[in-house]
Amino acid sequence: MSSATGTGTGVAIIGAGLGGIAAAIACASRGYRVALYEKNDKIGGKLNVMRKDGFTFDLGPSILTLPQVFRELFALAGKKLESYVNILPLDLQWRNIFEDGTIIDLHADIGKTRKDLDTRYPGAGDEFERFLAYSKKQYELVHKHYLYDSVDSITEMMLTHSPLDLWLRMDSMKTMTASVEKHFKESHLQDIFNFFIKYVGSSASNAPGFMNLMPWVQFGYGLWYVEGGMYNMARGLHRLLVELGVEVNLNREVLSVGRNGHNRVTGLVLAGNEKVEADVVISNMEVIPACKKLLGYTNAQLKSLHKFEPSCSGIVLHLGTDKVYEQLAHHNFFYSTNQKHHFDLVFNKYELPADPTIYLVAPVRTDKSQAPEGCDNLKILPHIPHIREDKPHTRGDYEQLAEQVIDKLERMGLNDLRKHIVVRDLLTPHDIERMYHSNKGSIYGVVTDKRKNFAFRAPKKSRQFKNLYFVGGSVNPGAGMPMVVLSGMQAAKMIAHDFALKT
Ligand SMILES: Cc1cc2nc3c(=O)[nH]c(=O)nc-3n(C[C@H](O)[C@H](O)[C@H](O)COP(=O)(O)OP(=O)(O)OC[C@H]3O[C@@H](n4cnc5c(N)ncnc54)[C@H](O)[C@@H]3O)c2cc1C
Repeated sequence: MSSATGTGTGVAIIGAGLGGIAAAIACASRGYRVALYEKNDKIGGKLNVMRKDGFTFDLGPSILTLPQVFRELFALAGKKLESYVNILPLDLQWRNIFEDGTIIDLHADIGKTRKDLDTRYPGAGDEFERFLAYSKKQYELVHKHYLYDSVDSITEMMLTHSPLDLWLRMDSMKTMTASVEKHFKESHLQDIFNFFIKYVGSSASNAPGFMNLMPWVQFGYGLWYVEGGMYNMARGLHRLLVELGVEVNLNREVLSVGRNGHNRVTGLVLAGNEKVEADVVISNMEVIPACKKLLGYTNAQLKSLHKFEPSCSGIVLHLGTDKVYEQLAHHNFFYSTNQKHHFDLVFNKYELPADPTIYLVAPVRTDKSQAPEGCDNLKILPHIPHIREDKPHTRGDYEQLAEQVIDKLERMGLNDLRKHIVVRDLLTPHDIERMYHSNKGSIYGVVTDKRKNFAFRAPKKSRQFKNLYFVGGSVNPGAGMPMVVLSGMQAAKMIAHDFALKT
């Protein structure tokens, strides 16, 4: 029998992604007995790692933003992040590369970025400064209630924000693209700042204007790398879980959630029909797959969740090469010649883009431990549609796209890339769905779309079961490492508020 049961209050958590881990730490720090059940052989979920022939590939996140959120999580347990993991700020944040040969770097030093932009495009320095001030304002307006106070719906947002803030100061009426175009005249700069939507795997043409808060997240609080590889964050968190006495069960898939017929859940059913009783259940499995597979929702019951459409998926190409591509920075973006068309194909038409904007991570510049000497470690990620029954794609289609991506990279300066590949691995949307049980292979949970959901995701507290909560990228405040950690911390706070749990 699980330690989530017995004397005192037990919390059982389905899945050890960052949302589940954060919820476990926040609950255990409050003194609850916590057991985590993870179907994979290690914790971290999409924060995952693969070693092959001397290369270490981070399979999921490569950029850490808002490190203060992780500091707050460790502080709940009376610990310091830095005692578990070293994080490094990057001075050169994004290298942006265009088909016409233009290369534009974004530096952590705002003054330097401003000066460089102004030298290249006279007047762009002022545009950048005004845009960043607007971006900061959007962050500040959204940050307190949406990011920290568990606001879960437009109604709650209307109760916590003044009408002046909500409809005038917050950029809620326009799209992200409309506001980027209002601020920048030059098309390369429009492409770059529109692509900050990458952090939530959506389309800048469909997202509400306040999502332009993302550049301030990056410039205001830095873009960070976890020394030794991003997966070291999961290792540090695992150590903390153990120190807090959380029971971490690996290779344990949850098959259903027990119910008592009176709006309460009673625990978990694992493979082999093993039953675990619990007072509270938290699901880090995404909301829609969990409702379908663990709670047996009917199609009619699932209808209210349709607005929480999955974000984009991706093909994730990991290449080890026998040479170093010196022209690359740690984070690089190779732009589509028509990014609006790329957004339209992926997010409106759900088609594979022939000329996508490509994100390429090359961590060896910061951390030589990630590849053998004289070699490069490249993670290449174009965003593509999530899995759709009405527009199915085969492994062959994804392989073909990977080849088109390599063609584009060779054309844009990575000479003879194909010839220099010594290790190659490709993850498709079907792999991502299988590995993490994500909704249709989504990478960032729910799409951020002004018309479909106004950037809201599903609520953290089940509307049907009094003691069931959800955390992770499919609930508010959203996807990305810091956001899912916030969801876990918020869920623990809600549980403490909702129940006088015995400890
Ligand atoms: C290629 C890629 C690049 C990314 N880049 C970035 C980036 O640079 N920066 C950033 O901040 N974010 C990035 N992200 C997004 C980020 O990784 C996610 O938002 C975040 O890690 C998701 O955390 P989560 O809590 O939602 O859970 P997930 O990571 O989805 O984990 C859920 C866990 O639950 C487990 N599970 C599911 N169902 C069951 C079940 N029934 N029983 C037991 N276990 C179950 C799964 O195995 C998994 O371990 C990227 C993601 C990917 C895939």
